[in-house]
Amino acid sequence: MAETQHPVGLAVRLPFKSPEEFLQGYGQNLSKGGIYLRAKNLRAPGTPVTLEIKLADGSRIISAIAKVSFVTGAHGVGVPGMGFKFLVLDAPTRRFLETAAAVMPHARSDEPPLPKNVGEPDFRPEAVEPPLPVEPPPATGAPPPSQANPSLPSEQSGRLVVTSEASTLEAPAFEAPAEEPPRTGPIIGIDLGTTNSCAAVVRDGKPVILRDKDGRGLIPSVVALTPRGKLSVGAPARAQMLSNPRWTASGFKRLLGRAFDAPEVQPIIRRFGWEVVPTESGDCGMRLGDRVYRLEEISALVLREVKGLAERHLGVPVHRAVITVPAWYTEKQRLAVREAGRLASLHVERIVNEPTAAALAWGYGRKLTQRILVYDLGGGTFDASVLELNDTVYEVMSTGGDPFLGGMDFDTTIVAWLLADFEQKHDTIFSDRVAIQRVTDAAERAKIALSTTHEAPIKVPFVTMVNNTPVDLDVVLKRQTLVELTHALVDKTMEVCQEVLKVRGVRADEITEILLVGGQSQAPLVQERITVLFGRKPLQGVNPNEAVAMGAALLAHALEKQEGLLLVDVLPQSIGVGLPGGKFEVVVPRNTALPVTRKHRLITSQDAQEAIEVPILQGSKDQAKDNTYLGTVRLSGLPPAPAGGVAVELSFELSNECLLTLTAKNAATGQDVAATFATQDAPEVVKARMAALERELPPPGEEATQPRGFGGWLSKLLGG
Ligand code: ADP
Ligand code: MG
Repeated sequence: MAETQHPVGLAVRLPFKSPEEFLQGYGQNLSKGGIYLRAKNLRAPGTPVTLEIKLADGSRIISAIAKVSFVTGAHGVGVPGMGFKFLVLDAPTRRFLETAAAVMPHARSDEPPLPKNVGEPDFRPEAVEPPLPVEPPPATGAPPPSQANPSLPSEQSGRLVVTSEASTLEAPAFEAPAEEPPRTGPIIGIDLGTTNSCAAVVRDGKPVILRDKDGRGLIPSVVALTPRGKLSVGAPARAQMLSNPRWTASGFKRLLGRAFDAPEVQPIIRRFGWEVVPTESGDCGMRLGDRVYRLEEISALVLREVKGLAERHLGVPVHRAVITVPAWYTEKQRLAVREAGRLASLHVERIVNEPTAAALAWGYGRKLTQRILVYDLGGGTFDASVLELNDTVYEVMSTGGDPFLGGMDFDTTIVAWLLADFEQKHDTIFSDRVAIQRVTDAAERAKIALSTTHEAPIKVPFVTMVNNTPVDLDVVLKRQTLVELTHALVDKTMEVCQEVLKVRGVRADEITEILLVGGQSQAPLVQERITVLFGRKPLQGVNPNEAVAMGAALLAHALEKQEGLLLVDVLPQSIGVGLPGGKFEVVVPRNTALPVTRKHRLITSQDAQEAIEVPILQGSKDQAKDNTYLGTVRLSGLPPAPAGGVAVELSFELSNECLLTLTAKNAATGQDVAATFATQDAPEVVKARMAALERELPPPGEEATQPRGFGGWLSKLLGG
């Protein structure tokens, strides 16, 4: 080893604008103990170096005395580069590395990391002899930015050539199951949550939560693409949220089964740290790396994880499940959950509403006669439902909610406050995803702590650079401040509670028990407001995080045992048809008890008309286009007759699980009419249909609900 004892100076500037970008793009090459850099000129292991690593703007991010720990690619195999072990660090570097270790599990190591695809490390001092290869070809992916940008190689003697993780990573295809699993074995209950998922089974008549060997029963509903191009699910995926929010998908249940263009979707898309994109069918999908996934696939990955956990716990294969959904879920979203189950190799024996499941967890086997309110405030959705329990009959009387209100909104509110405070203190603001995600994480932790304490520190070290100096976010949040920040959100939930009571003419004091479900319902403010509104404290003793899965397990058990358990749900949102002129006509109103069949009559508007097409929608808005488009039913093969000569009776049949089937009969002859229900229309087609519908004016003197004789694409449609 012919090295001088004077450290070699190595300085390198990387193309990252901020520390967060650096971590996001280069974090895999960094640990608390060292850094890996690609280099043209390799130095033998043991060589001391002074390392200066700078960001694009020249600000210093790492300043250290280090030594070469290992080399790679010295002999033409693999990528030439060196792992440097830090020996001496300055204070800002130390703090930065602590942050890196806090947000990236691999960075906790005391040794420099060995990135994928660079080849075997060589720790021998003579490793660099004979002489060095000249140009390091990147092992995979796009050429490193350093090669695209000639200003990047080092400024001093080291002449390092550095690469960052390619910004588009090859993501694996989702593998759908090749065949249907057998419909045998136990039925588990699954709470497929926005934030956390959970499974349970009934043992000796009691529901038990299925846990891993460390006792954890909640699986974060998070899927991530790792920097190595693999999909990870659950806790490991969640751990990546801080370092790489863009490729870490959480909260997707909010968008499952929704059209990308839907009016309720666009305003919230920016709230997701990951990229929401339309799928081929126009639904919300997710881009991870270079691939777009359907949210059914992403949900299936979470379900597979739950299934795996259940199988490990039970020691038998699991092929069947009861899965819960928010009461507020549309028809289309329920279908999406069924599809996710199928993709996870699970027979979905039944879909059940979360509040009904929670009520089962409370009432099962107790022979209660009660009227209860289930208040479910989770991570992304809020539901309130009034149920009547009568021994084994669970009847939902009314349900309502807000599909875009949950714990995440509490976090967002706190983050907005923190940013405003930061801006005031430092006269600057930051907006990159990693920094915001770190602040959000800290805000959530403080929020949860404030459910039991009165003050919580929020500290995010080195959140951004101000005048080339790293600054921390460091605030104490008081419970009182949290109350002020979030009371409007809680007020909204109270309004929904009042509304679900009102639609059934029930007074607050006629509610026997209030059941709190969902992690966010543990906020003291919620409990206070409930107590004020109902004049009684909410029920204790039902675990808000586990009640839904337990109820699903009890229902699964009842199905297996064929016990007489009767669940009467209601339709959460009205279903109806779009009319010429653009209006929406309700056929089955909201809160109708299920199962139900309602008929709607249509007549032909043209001579010799062979088919009628009608758009089917769900929602509460007057205008058809403002509601959720479910699909278009096409009634075909009509007998030849003059205009108005054929009347068709279209039946809307909703199962006890709230799944819609459309059938049609010739009103005069009673013969079946072929009805095909297309639900996968391209978004442009749906838009064009709604626009055409609006242009069709109902004729003067006719009620909108009694249209007759229109032209245009809906010329085939007549309501009657
Ligand atoms: P979901 O049903 O959407 O999966 P959960 O019921 O698991 O959601 O609730 C998750 C939400 O609850 C998160 O927003 C989380 O911050 C919040 N949360 C969890 N525990 C508490 C607590 N003790 N106090 C307040 N909020 C909490
Ligand atoms: Mg939930």
